[in-house]
Amino acid sequence: TTASSNGSHPSASDVRDVIVVGSGPAGYTAAVYAARANLAPLVFEGSVTAGGALMNTTEVENFPGFRDGIMGPELMDNMRAQAERFGAELVADDITSMDLGGDVKTVTDGGGVVHRARTVILAMGSGYRKLGIPDEDRLSGHGVSWCATCDGFFFREQHIAVVGGGDSALEEATFLARFGSKVTLIHRRGELRASKIMQERAFADPKIDFAWNSAVEALHGDDKLTGLTLVDTVTGEKRELDATGLFIAIGHDPRSELITEQVELDDEGYVLVDHPSTRTSLAGVFACGDLVDHHYRQAITAAGTGCAAALDAERHLAALD
Ligand code: FAD
Repeated sequence: TTASSNGSHPSASDVRDVIVVGSGPAGYTAAVYAARANLAPLVFEGSVTAGGALMNTTEVENFPGFRDGIMGPELMDNMRAQAERFGAELVADDITSMDLGGDVKTVTDGGGVVHRARTVILAMGSGYRKLGIPDEDRLSGHGVSWCATCDGFFFREQHIAVVGGGDSALEEATFLARFGSKVTLIHRRGELRASKIMQERAFADPKIDFAWNSAVEALHGDDKLTGLTLVDTVTGEKRELDATGLFIAIGHDPRSELITEQVELDDEGYVLVDHPSTRTSLAGVFACGDLVDHHYRQAITAAGTGCAAALDAERHLAALD
């Protein structure tokens, strides 16, 4: 690194072709494709959560190519090594600010070093909202989940609890009723905010019952979830629920806080792209994965759009040359 022209921050001297911000399935797949296209991508993986959302889970059974399933962290290590094998430069650091407007974009890392590139691929993912109660992280992947599509299959013939009151909570509950012996929807209020049609579907399902005015206060179990304590939000009364699966469906937030004033976002903060491409509202800036997608939110769809982002960046660079 060398001193930058304004003298305030050190700056990486060369202008890269591609910088990738984010290290989940989207970021690593973009890195594999960009590296194999000889673009020597510089990838910022994040300092704490390198590898993305799947680092916090156990078995992944729906990523194609792994007949017997694969552990989330192992899948991400493989993707990482695959990107590195083709010459991606991986840095376990956070990007703390970005300036994406000009022909040369800059991103600043956690140490204050400024990196420059002609294209930037945004792949910061989204975070599932947590309940914020003890043992939630410890039992994640051991009975506690944020994704019915991913994990419903593990809970066949079990009593499953779902927390939330919006459309996605009801969608999860209705989906999980296919697997579980019983599904209890836990909601802090006495009525749902989900759409009428979703409510009617859930009310009509004989396997779904409702714990109204209830919040989860405690989780039980050593190696895996064995039950929950609920507290009545009106009376304060406590009761036990013998559920062995808990799906938390209280929302998720795209990690777009660094770019709110720069690229166009939708009302919920997801980056808007020019579908089916990954182009954002700024030339040379591409976005992929859960940062864009609030519909599918799967590792394979994130990887798919990560691939598309690298191909879009490659074409953009070719047009500049
Ligand atoms: P993420 O995986 O969220 O990765 C983004 C990463 O980018 C962050 O973690 C961080 O490391 C990095 N980052 C963010 N901001 C910055 C920054 N400013 N600077 C540097 N780095 C940054 N999907 C499936 O298909 N199958 C499953 O079985 C499955 N199980 C799941 C289990 C759990 C517990 C969870 C939470 C999710 C699961 N999913 C599953 C969903 C899947 O993990 C996501 O859809 C997928 O990881 C999204 O990929 P992504 O690359 O867009 O983002």
